[in-house]
Amino acid sequence: MSHARIEEFRSDIVATSHRLHANGWVANHDGNLTARLDGDHLLCTPTAVSKGDVRPGWLIIVDGENAVIEGARRSFSELQLHRAAYAARPDISVVIHAHPPVSCGFAVVGEPIPHPMMAEPVVSLGPEIPMVPYFRPGAPALSTAIGEALQRADVLLLERHGLLAVGGSFEQAYLRMELVEHQAKIAMNAKAIGDVRRLPQSEIEALSKKGRPASSPMREQTDDRSSSPSAGAVAHQRPDVSGLVDQALKRFS
Ligand SMILES: [Zn+2]
Repeated sequence: MSHARIEEFRSDIVATSHRLHANGWVANHDGNLTARLDGDHLLCTPTAVSKGDVRPGWLIIVDGENAVIEGARRSFSELQLHRAAYAARPDISVVIHAHPPVSCGFAVVGEPIPHPMMAEPVVSLGPEIPMVPYFRPGAPALSTAIGEALQRADVLLLERHGLLAVGGSFEQAYLRMELVEHQAKIAMNAKAIGDVRRLPQSEIEALSKKGRPASSPMREQTDDRSSSPSAGAVAHQRPDVSGLVDQALKRFS
């Protein structure tokens, strides 16, 4: 992977960290962000920092054993969530984890975020926002459940915990998480007014016929033996030309 691409990830992690904090989606040292580099190396936010304060020089690179190989700070304990996501989804390059408070309200009640209630979020997110059941941090069953749920969706609600969003870029994963938190807010308002009405099943099927948008940009395929697709993993292997063009235009605009 080119130095320029790593530096792009670095500035995107910093900008997205600040966005999470400005939104009130993290408190204290909550939340963590990673980008997949070559092999099983990850560029990560370090542990024990507010996401509102993260600076480019604070980021660390960990190897496949989660040992820090670049940077002066320590790695965070929730790397399991990120590793599970990357192992299950060869098409993604980034993972964002945060504790947005309305989504977390559903997570602590143990109730999935009502979805889909409206048409547009079906097209953007697909027909499901799966809720991964609570497992103690570190339990292998947690990784299995995350990997399984990520075959059906790009944002997961983790019971009694928070949200996990994946994508081809930090912009994409962030916007996915934002849309889920927005759905949670709408559902909370709707519950105060009356009954939440999900879209009829026939409508959900019609709207989700095309499938969810692919991860964009598509991950650079390198000599990458560590992230072989898991059973049943569906990678979006086609080059996403329009996504790449959008990225290029954004960069030069
Ligand atoms: Zn967390």
